[in-house]
Amino acid sequence: MDRAIGSIAILGGGTAGWMAAAVLAQVLRGTGTSITLVESADIPTVGVGEATIPPIVDFLRLLEIDQAEFMVATEGTFKLGIRFDDWTTPGERYWHPFGTFGPTIDRRPFHNMWHRLRAAGDDPRVEAYSLSAALGDAGRMAFADPRAGGVGPSGGLRHALHFDAGLVARFLRTWSERRGVTRLERKVEGAVLRDDGFVEALALKGGGHLAADLFIDCSGFRGVLIEEALKTGYEDWSRWLPCDRAVAGLTARDPNPPP
Ligand SMILES: Cc1cc2nc3c(=O)[nH]c(=O)nc-3n(C[C@H](O)[C@H](O)[C@H](O)COP(=O)(O)OP(=O)(O)OC[C@H]3O[C@@H](n4cnc5c(N)ncnc54)[C@H](O)[C@@H]3O)c2cc1C
Repeated sequence: MDRAIGSIAILGGGTAGWMAAAVLAQVLRGTGTSITLVESADIPTVGVGEATIPPIVDFLRLLEIDQAEFMVATEGTFKLGIRFDDWTTPGERYWHPFGTFGPTIDRRPFHNMWHRLRAAGDDPRVEAYSLSAALGDAGRMAFADPRAGGVGPSGGLRHALHFDAGLVARFLRTWSERRGVTRLERKVEGAVLRDDGFVEALALKGGGHLAADLFIDCSGFRGVLIEEALKTGYEDWSRWLPCDRAVAGLTARDPNPPP
């Protein structure tokens, strides 16, 4: 039996769907694998934000997308970390900077020194040893020095991007379609399952099916395949996550946003 994957169907065209399509189009180029993404204009994407963390830069590198071009297209800005102002109490703030903290000293990772300082009765804030946090507080931006080979404070700098998620999906859609991904504008009503319980095809509204060897469910909270068809079960983490909602809002436009 030929188990090679010759066709892939992605259900959903939000950030997850188009990111999956782009990565697969890139890594499978030249293999002849067909990739089809199905999305429905009747079901909107979440499309808020979007704050990212440094692996987004690796993602762009994998796709050989020029970062400057991507940022212009997605109205993006750089970020060196996330600063939570008034986090636990008014006036209190908490930094989650990207990159490394402090240098290695005598081949010992920096956190050993930090723990030693604490054991000696000091109460050092770990962000005080982060170049990203210092740059962010100063309203400055720098990239890692490639000559540092990931060593030292400037070598350990990492950055991420903050962009408009809707524009990201649009950018990746154009990018993916140019690389042979087929987009199907249809609502999926469910899945046709094989006797062994695996998905055989997507049932399209108005008739017709989309068969594939591999299905990727990017239908968002609906979980059209993983939940509605396969009933894999929802794992509720709310007892570990005291925050159960998010509110998106706009702030005044800052002509010079801090990184
Ligand atoms: C207020 C808020 C703030 C957030 N902030 C961040 C953030 O800063 N950083 C971050 O990383 N994440 C953030 N998130 C989470 C992030 O926005 C979502 O996880 C992400 O956008 C979800 O994308 P998705 O592609 O999985 O799903 P969706 O955007 O929901 O896309 C689902 C897709 O599936 C399609 N679809 C669904 N059902 C069908 C069907 N039956 N037939 C055909 N097509 C179908 C839809 O048309 C759509 O294209 C935030 C979320 C919220 C609500």
